[in-house]
Amino acid sequence: MFQKVYLFLFLWPMQEKIEKIKSALQDSKNIVITVHRSPDGDALGSALALSDILSQLNHNVTVVSPNSYASFLYWMKGNDDVLVFLKDLEKSTKVTKDADVIFMLDYNHLSRIGEYSNLVRDSDAFKVIIDHHQDPDLDIADVIISDTSICSTAQLLFNVIEKLGYKRLIKKDVAECLYAGIMTDTGSFKFSSTTAETHEIIAQLIDLGADNSKVHDLIYDNYTPDRIKLLGYCLNEKMKIFQDLHSAVISLTEEELKSFNFRKGDTEGVVNYALAIKGITFAVFIAEKEGAVKLSLRSKGDLKVNEIAKKYFNGGGHVNAAGGVSDLSVEETTNKIIEIFKKYKRVINQ
Ligand code: 5GP
Ligand code: MN
Repeated sequence: MFQKVYLFLFLWPMQEKIEKIKSALQDSKNIVITVHRSPDGDALGSALALSDILSQLNHNVTVVSPNSYASFLYWMKGNDDVLVFLKDLEKSTKVTKDADVIFMLDYNHLSRIGEYSNLVRDSDAFKVIIDHHQDPDLDIADVIISDTSICSTAQLLFNVIEKLGYKRLIKKDVAECLYAGIMTDTGSFKFSSTTAETHEIIAQLIDLGADNSKVHDLIYDNYTPDRIKLLGYCLNEKMKIFQDLHSAVISLTEEELKSFNFRKGDTEGVVNYALAIKGITFAVFIAEKEGAVKLSLRSKGDLKVNEIAKKYFNGGGHVNAAGGVSDLSVEETTNKIIEIFKKYKRVINQ
């Protein structure tokens, strides 16, 4: 009895949110699904999956990305109809102004959508956040489904879709978008955020038609020769390993990127190679892109890189994967990171 009551209390707030979304959708025709800047597999996969499902329910759905993204995501169904705000300014503005409902997927602060944020903030649409990052801004949406314990927005979205009663609408293409989201945000099911439930959902997605091997190929075995050479350059020439500090950093200037004909997405995953070195539990990748110095921070274990990103680089993210920006040069940022390595020196039993 006690257990039943407890379960009811636990589920109730979620059920109330689901009912609110349902009733908002009932009265709505135009729906916009938004994602954070430079959306990754989780953000874009979630957005395109939700878009497909709501389109099947006869809504007018548009996915808007604040800016462009990696070409290894272009295979996802619905990609060709995504509006890129910075490129399709007029259309993106119109659909956002006309929206009855706006979904905000895989982000929870308007700063994460850059120049697109004013339009979203000023819209009168009913707004729904579905996200797994820390510290959601509670003032920017009508319904916030936020769970930082879940590995990916795609997994959370799968739960939401199920609770909304739309699981029957998940066909092969949608299953593959969700699969890609979960796969990329768990580092192919290896991060500690991967749970039995993750694997259970993955099993369901495969049952629903997802070709798991194909999705892995499309995302991970799709390098251009320039991209793989850039990776070689990073590892051979640019990696500084501080074995005693259990830390490593790789940094690239805009010029270096240019010399490898850099395309968006080409440096994704580079930081993980530094973390693959035995004894390294704190890895940082620094790159100068579009005039800004961006950082990717990764850790293993208890080191909370989101706190470091927030404190020193105006950023954030998850405990073991975070990002931020620096207003110093690449070289100065690298030196600052080395100082941070020293400050966060840890004793690790190997
Ligand atoms: P990445 O290193 O792949 O760009 O990002 C890793 C994680 O950190 C992602 O979950 C992303 O949402 C978060 N992140 C990256 N850059 C920023 C940033 O500038 N601000 C905040 N708040 N989070 C970021
Ligand atoms: Mn995510």
